[in-house]
Amino acid sequence: MPASHNDRPVNGFSGRVEADFNPDSTLARYFGSNYCYRPEQQSLAGRVADAIDGGDRLLAEAETGIGKTMAYLVPALRSDDKVLISTHTKSLQDQLMHRDLPQVRRALGRDRETALLKGRNSYLCPHRLQQSQRELRLDASLGNMLAQVTEWARRDVDGDLSALAFDVAEAGLRGMITATAEQCLGRDCPSWDQCPLVRARNRAQKADIVIANHSLLLADAALKAGAFGEVLPEFDAYVLDEAHSLPELASQHFGLRFGRQRFISWGHDMQEALQALGDEGALQGDVTRALPSVLRTYGHGGLEAALPEWGELIEMADSRRERSEDMAKLSERAAAITADMEALMQPAEGYVAWSDGHGELRQHFLAPVETGAVLAEHVWRRPSAFILLSATLRISGSFDHAGRRLGLEDALNCYHPSPFDYAEQALLYLPRHLPPPGHADGDAAMLDEMIRLLSASSGRAFVLFTSHRMLQRLAPQLAERLPWPVLEQGRDGARDKILNIFREEKHSILCGTRSFWEGVDVPGESLSMVIVDKLPFAPPNDPLLQARIKACEAAGGNGFRDIQLPEAIAVLRQGVGRLIRSASDTGVMAILDARIHTRSYGRQVVRNLPAAPVAHGINAVRAFYAQSCAEEEVA
Ligand code: SF4
Repeated sequence: MPASHNDRPVNGFSGRVEADFNPDSTLARYFGSNYCYRPEQQSLAGRVADAIDGGDRLLAEAETGIGKTMAYLVPALRSDDKVLISTHTKSLQDQLMHRDLPQVRRALGRDRETALLKGRNSYLCPHRLQQSQRELRLDASLGNMLAQVTEWARRDVDGDLSALAFDVAEAGLRGMITATAEQCLGRDCPSWDQCPLVRARNRAQKADIVIANHSLLLADAALKAGAFGEVLPEFDAYVLDEAHSLPELASQHFGLRFGRQRFISWGHDMQEALQALGDEGALQGDVTRALPSVLRTYGHGGLEAALPEWGELIEMADSRRERSEDMAKLSERAAAITADMEALMQPAEGYVAWSDGHGELRQHFLAPVETGAVLAEHVWRRPSAFILLSATLRISGSFDHAGRRLGLEDALNCYHPSPFDYAEQALLYLPRHLPPPGHADGDAAMLDEMIRLLSASSGRAFVLFTSHRMLQRLAPQLAERLPWPVLEQGRDGARDKILNIFREEKHSILCGTRSFWEGVDVPGESLSMVIVDKLPFAPPNDPLLQARIKACEAAGGNGFRDIQLPEAIAVLRQGVGRLIRSASDTGVMAILDARIHTRSYGRQVVRNLPAAPVAHGINAVRAFYAQSCAEEEVA
C-alpha cells in the first residue's frame, strides 16, 4: 500500500486525497515549480475528505497561507458526491469558478461537471424586461438602454448581467430587469422557458459541483422556510469558505428590513399590471389615490397607523386576482407585506424588532436574537456533510464561540496554523502613550500617530477605521499632511475601484471601514502596514446586540465576555490578517487603542493576534522598515 508523505498509511478516501498532495503526486507535477508542499494543507485536505465521506459537520480554522482553497477543491473533485462550494465574497466565488477549480480539475484529470450559481439579481428577468419596455416607451434614454439589454439577451444565453457592457446598477436598471423572489411568477411565468435564472438552476441541478455564495444558500434556506419555493437543489456535501461571516448574513436573511420602498415597489408593479389589462382605468385611479395616503400615514404614524389603509389596497388587488398571473402574484405580495408588518409589530419569540431613522425614511428591522438556532433548523438539519472553513474561527484557541453562533456546538473541529514566520515577517505595534477612546485630545493624538507611522512605512498602508465618523474626520487630514495619495472609501470611490488604484499606486494609503477588514487580498509591497484605529467592538446601542446580551445574561452568561469581546477579537484578527498574505510579505500591524494596555481584557486580545514581536515605540517601527529596506537591497 502506498504511503502518504507524512507516513500515514493511505486508507480510504482521505488517504487517497492526502496522497494527492505529496511532492511526487500528479497534482504537484502539474503545478511544477509553483507547487509547494505544505503539511498543514495536506492534513486539512484529509480532514475535509473525512468529513465529506462521513457526512460530518466540521469547523476548520485554516490560517492564511495554508492554501485552503486547494485543500477543499481536491476532495470535492475526488468525491463522487454532489458538492456545493459557497463563499461570502463574489471575488472568491469568481476566482474559484474561473481559475482555481478548472486548474485543479485539469491537474487531477477529474472530469466532474461544474456550474456557477449566483443570486436572482445577477440574472436578467425577461418578464420584467418586457414590462419595463412597455412602461418606458416614452423615456428615450432608459428605453435605449433597455433596447441594448434586449439585444444582448438575444446573444447571451446565460443572462448573467455581469457580462453586459455596462453596469446595470450604476445605470439604475437593476430593479427594472431583475425579479425579486416576491416579484417572480415562478412556473406561472410566460417567460419561464427563456428565463436565465431557471436555466442556471437547471445547470446547478445537473452539475456535480456548484459554486455559489452564502447569501444564495441562506436566501434559499429562508425561502424553503417560507412560501416562495426553493432555489438550490440538495447536495451531499456543503463546503462553506469564509464561514466566519455566516452568523451576520443569517441575521439578515432570516430577518427583515422594511421601509416605504416596499409599498412603492408594490404600487408600481400594481399599476403596470392594471395597465396591461387595458380596461381597469377606474381601479388604476383608486390605487393612484390610495398609495400616497398609505405612504403619508406610514411617514407620520409608522406601521400600526398604515396597516388599516394598506388593507384597502390589499382588497383592490384581491378583487382582480383572477384576471392575470401578475394580479394573482400582486395579491400574494400584498398579503406578504401585511405579514411582515405584523411580524415587525409583534416579533415572534426569539426575534427582536427595531427601527432606525424618522418619518418617511424610517427603516424597520427584524432579526433572530441568536443565529445558531435558525441555522441549525433551516440549514444544518439536512442529512449532508457540512464543512465550514475560515482563517478566524477560534477565540483563545477554542471553537466554543463560533460553535454557539453557528449552531454547531457538537461539530468536529480542526486547526491548521499559518506557515508564515510572523516573528521574522511582522511587527505588532501597540503604543502606550495614546489617550483612551473618547478622550478630548484623542483624535489629534491619533492623527499624529498615524502620520508618524505612515511616514515610517512610506505610505503603502491600509488604515482601517471602526466608524465612518472617524474615517471622514481623519482621512482628509492624512491627505493634507502626507505626500502620498490617500484613498478614502466613499469619497474616492467604491471598494473595488479604490482597491484597484491602491494596488497600482505603490505608496498609496487606503482608508476604509468594515468592508476592508476582510476578504481583501493585497500581497506584496503595496501593503506593508495595517493601522487599526480602535478595537472593533460593536456599537453598544445596537438593539440586536442589546437583545443578545440580555438573552445571554438571562441564561447565566456574561454579555461582554461571551459576546462583545470574542466578536471584537474575531473582527480584529480579520483586519490585521490583511497584512501578511505570502511568505515574502513583511510589515507592521499597528493598533492605536490604549485599552489594550489599560483594560484587563487587553492581554487576551493580544494573545489572539499573530505571534509577531511587540513594540511600543515608533523607533522600533522605523528600525523594522530600515532593516526590511536593507534586506531588499542585499537581495
Ligand atoms: S420565472 Fe421569474 S425570474 Fe424568470 S422570467 Fe419569470 S418572473 Fe422573471
